[in-house]
Amino acid sequence: MRIAVVPGDGIGPEVTREALKVLGALATAEISLFPWGADHFLKTGETIPAGAFEMLARDFDAVLSGAFGDPRVPDGRHADEILLGMRRRLDLFANVRPVRALDDSVVPLRRARAADVDFVLFRENTEGAYSGRGRVTGAGTSGEEAVEEDVTTRRGVERICRAAFEFAVAFGRTRRPGRRPRVLMADKHNVQKGGGGLWHRVFREVAAAFPSCENRHMFADALAHEMVRSPASLDVVVTNNLFGDVLSDLGAALQGGLGLAPSGNVHPGRTSVFEPVHGSAPDLAGRGIANPFGSIRSLGMLLAHVGRGDLEERIERAVAACLAAGETTRDLGGKLSTGEAGDAVVARLAGGKARGSGRAPRAPVRARRAGASPRRRRAG
Ligand code: ATP
Repeated sequence: MRIAVVPGDGIGPEVTREALKVLGALATAEISLFPWGADHFLKTGETIPAGAFEMLARDFDAVLSGAFGDPRVPDGRHADEILLGMRRRLDLFANVRPVRALDDSVVPLRRARAADVDFVLFRENTEGAYSGRGRVTGAGTSGEEAVEEDVTTRRGVERICRAAFEFAVAFGRTRRPGRRPRVLMADKHNVQKGGGGLWHRVFREVAAAFPSCENRHMFADALAHEMVRSPASLDVVVTNNLFGDVLSDLGAALQGGLGLAPSGNVHPGRTSVFEPVHGSAPDLAGRGIANPFGSIRSLGMLLAHVGRGDLEERIERAVAACLAAGETTRDLGGKLSTGEAGDAVVARLAGGKARGSGRAPRAPVRARRAGASPRRRRAG
């Protein structure tokens, strides 16, 4: 396994360190660390070196990313070029966000239990309202008008719907034995007749090729209601970039908050990028209190992507055991530091309880500190 690691800014390096600790306890991997982030940008003026995207795709099975965003770079230029750059240049068209509560204690709904919150959201990651196209006319005048272009292509919709159905087939086998997995598409084709209409037609076409899955449609607003009222009715949800962005924060809340939510930016079969849903949280950076579970669970998704779904399940079980025992950081009501929470997961993987602030286990990981450019990286 060759894994590129880009810890990034704020709490990114702190939570990524814990994910690597967990990786060290589970598998042998070749790790290359890349320093791209605000510090590197402010020191060198470089966001990400030329050829870096090609190098990631060529030399690595997957990328583990921390978080990007730093108040010293107010326009977030480096974050756009690194993170959005990876998404675009590696063509990571599926933003996969599991919504799986691992313990009853983290579910904020009065009448739901953890077993009721277990579905996966597929958000289209490359087009829609995030095309960056549009214009503002008459800025500052009473006639000011802003037009945002929401771009939807048949190719874009078809591939995300297909990825969602393919995922649902595998998800159904392991997590819904004995019944057909459900794929639900959410749009607003009642008001967005162009893009929404295209989503509606293409979803039906793709669904016809997957008779082993149930398919249904809801308007995005009705789905928000359903996620709160009846999350157990959901298996796999597929939707566009904007609705996926909004609904996935609701999904993060359903499974216990931003500190717990993992995600992947995926192109099936290709080098993909895994990162916690949360951002760089500058208010927490350097204080050793950030929750590392979102990053650790993102590592689990990465491992499943490279064919080790068994290790993802072990990580999920270990995090669940920590939550059940209250071995958590303070955002979840516990007392552990970021490092102690990572140690607790490692201890649970080994079948034991956390020892508080134990030392990190020896990791069978060959860590290579890589430079900013592919050449320095190879020179090692
Ligand atoms: P972005 O725009 O990059 O998504 P943001 O500023 O909107 O970032 P986050 O950086 O994710 O949002 O943080 C929002 C708040 O959530 C933080 O101030 C922090 O209180 C909380 N938070 C985020 N991540 C964690 C974490 N891993 N552990 C504990 N609290 C967290």
